Amino acid sequence: MKVSAALSKSPIEKISLDNHSIYIKRDDLLNPHFSGNKARKFAYYLEHNSTSITKLVSYGSIQANSLYSLAALAHLKGWQLDYYVSRIPDWLKDSTLGNYGQALALGAKIIVVDSSLLTDSNNLDGYMHQYAETLPETSLFIPEGGRSCHASLGVYTLAKEIADYCNTHKLFEKDTFAKTNQAQVMLPSGTGTTALFLQTWFKENNQPIKVLTCACVGDDVYLKKQFNQLNPDQTQWPTIISSRKKFHFGQLNKNHYLLWQHLLKETGIEFDLLYDPIGWHCLLDYLSNNYASNNNSTIPTFYIHQGGLVGNQTMLPRYQRKYPELF
Ligand SMILES: *Cc1c(COP(=O)(O)O)cnc(C)c1O
Repeated sequence: MKVSAALSKSPIEKISLDNHSIYIKRDDLLNPHFSGNKARKFAYYLEHNSTSITKLVSYGSIQANSLYSLAALAHLKGWQLDYYVSRIPDWLKDSTLGNYGQALALGAKIIVVDSSLLTDSNNLDGYMHQYAETLPETSLFIPEGGRSCHASLGVYTLAKEIADYCNTHKLFEKDTFAKTNQAQVMLPSGTGTTALFLQTWFKENNQPIKVLTCACVGDDVYLKKQFNQLNPDQTQWPTIISSRKKFHFGQLNKNHYLLWQHLLKETGIEFDLLYDPIGWHCLLDYLSNNYASNNNSTIPTFYIHQGGLVGNQTMLPRYQRKYPELF
């Protein structure tokens, strides 16, 4: 398999949803096994030849999209993946589906950290950073969710693809170049790494594109802390938009499922069930609040499909068990 050919440009499709016209950046179609924003964030490791590496070490949630993407990366590179978790829920243990099941099928080794080693003050993140110090040179350590400066390489490529599209399709008005934002890009955030590096690239390259995002995992304060760790220059931060609806990340939510189903029906595109319902709630609220009410015409709006569809294999049966009436 030719590894360098794995990531080519992803397509952009124009869809119409609830009277809004939106461009979807289909990063879910980058590559069958290595797709979405994890593929962008891990592209650096795919492209750089590190011949001495034999093992990839990472950690996080057992259901994380990054688990599957890291397993795919390790598989493409011929490395072993050791992935550390704090627990595996009983219902998932025998599953061959989803990020966990599919990562096992790609040869990933899942290691449950002894709970006596984890405390409130030294959680999995803290424990793994200490452990990383003891790893031999042949092991490559990737922090949870790919939150690292190396993520910029692949995310900058994504930013450039969007800017190129705007320029070749003449979406910017010439005379007001770079003075006001002329397009906006929405994507839901976990660690915020993807959104931050996108906005950084647009700013540094004078592209009049505003990045909109929302906090899915923690609150807005957590998200700003993450931005600050990666880039202290606040003028290069994305704009955080919020939803009026409250939710808990990872928990089943009837409104999320209904919106997911609506998106599938209206656009024919399957989105992720964890981040995308939150992202779309926020974006649709934002568009109606900022444009429809005061008759402003919307500037071109992009939504990035960041993959994560393997996770739906375990999310959908859970929804079906909890809300059989919706199926
Ligand atoms: C990981 C992931 C995110 C969050 O990405 P961050 O760079 O951590 O903000 C969003 N959507 C999907 C589908 C993901 O897999």
